[in-house]
Amino acid sequence: MIVYEAKAEATEEQFIKVNEALRTALFVRNSCLRYWIDGHAKTGYDLNKYTKFLSDNPEFPWVSKLNSTARQAMAERTWAAITRFFDNCKNKVPLKKGFPRFRQLQTRASVEYKQSGWSLSECRNYITFTDKFGIGTMKLMGTRDLNYYQVKQIKRVRIVRRSDGIYVQFCIDHERKEQLEPTGKSLALDLGLNHFYTDSDGKKVENPRFLRKSEKALKKAQRRLSRCTKASNNRAKARNRLGRKHLKLQRQRKDWCVKKALSVIKSADLVVFEKLQVRNMLKNHKLAKSISDASWSIFTQWLEYFGKVYGRVVVAVSPAYTSIDCSNCGHQVYKTLSTRTHSCPNCSYTACRDFNASRNILTKGLELFKNTDGQSGIQYASGEIDLCLEKATSKSKSTPRKRKVQE
Ligand SMILES: [Zn+2]
Repeated sequence: MIVYEAKAEATEEQFIKVNEALRTALFVRNSCLRYWIDGHAKTGYDLNKYTKFLSDNPEFPWVSKLNSTARQAMAERTWAAITRFFDNCKNKVPLKKGFPRFRQLQTRASVEYKQSGWSLSECRNYITFTDKFGIGTMKLMGTRDLNYYQVKQIKRVRIVRRSDGIYVQFCIDHERKEQLEPTGKSLALDLGLNHFYTDSDGKKVENPRFLRKSEKALKKAQRRLSRCTKASNNRAKARNRLGRKHLKLQRQRKDWCVKKALSVIKSADLVVFEKLQVRNMLKNHKLAKSISDASWSIFTQWLEYFGKVYGRVVVAVSPAYTSIDCSNCGHQVYKTLSTRTHSCPNCSYTACRDFNASRNILTKGLELFKNTDGQSGIQYASGEIDLCLEKATSKSKSTPRKRKVQE
């Protein structure tokens, strides 16, 4: 499944109608959640049936305006949240288990249609939403070409609202597979704060620290927002400005992570990284900001994704002892976070702390790979990878350039 995204050109009037559709979708979701909490729903199918009841109910006339598949999609999403909660409880996931919560309508909101309720124009540059909200036709602005796929391959269409406008996402049933020459190399990455990662070849990649760079502007926008009178127009504007700043930060991080992940995948056949429990690490308040700014999770998600696409093996190993063990003799050398070099009293091997760790990670990864017949990467890959390709470095852009250099 690939997700393409395009910005939609909407008029003021269409904005209001989209808003109405989003509000209704959220109403359906929250109603389904209430129905489940009250103990009426035992299966996802019960929730699906309940959406029919909601739309037939004269008390909620707006529900029937939403396309029936969109209502079902919202019920399915609710059920997915419920099962995720149960799975987390069963698997004893540390910290919060994610009990599904009632949500308020926020700037970022979305509604999902299945294969009806919308139609694409002949040239695929315009999309028309045909349910009773009357959103009508919107022009799609984006660089992705939808003509490459059949309309029936488009399984879901989402309207997503963000601070800077309305976007339309297309979930396309297509397995992306690319061929790459084998490199005969294995690479391990030690993710860190001083450097974004240190690989087992000794290469270090600087941390971009996007948050640190835009922190001042963010704080200013935040202050402006909190000075505005509640529920005023100026406050809405200030909120929007702050939202856009956050959006920019989010996009910078993602763009950077995608590019780095792709270059790593292209440079080795087997990539090993540590499966960090970022949620646990965030409990350290002194480092929390730096850790979330490092965006390791986005990076490793894209590593897994590109590993699948390019047929490379991606292995995640547990981070236990990787920075303590000596990669030369296995002797345990305890050190604090501030000790930057590893020097072993046993075999007098001295190396950069992160480099030593990455060598340990490589050993661990290769072992895991051998013991599981190469299945480990697939085991860890998070199954349904629903990453959006809008800003992904597309093949057509990056590979030819690289080839020219080689020739
Ligand atoms: Zn040693």
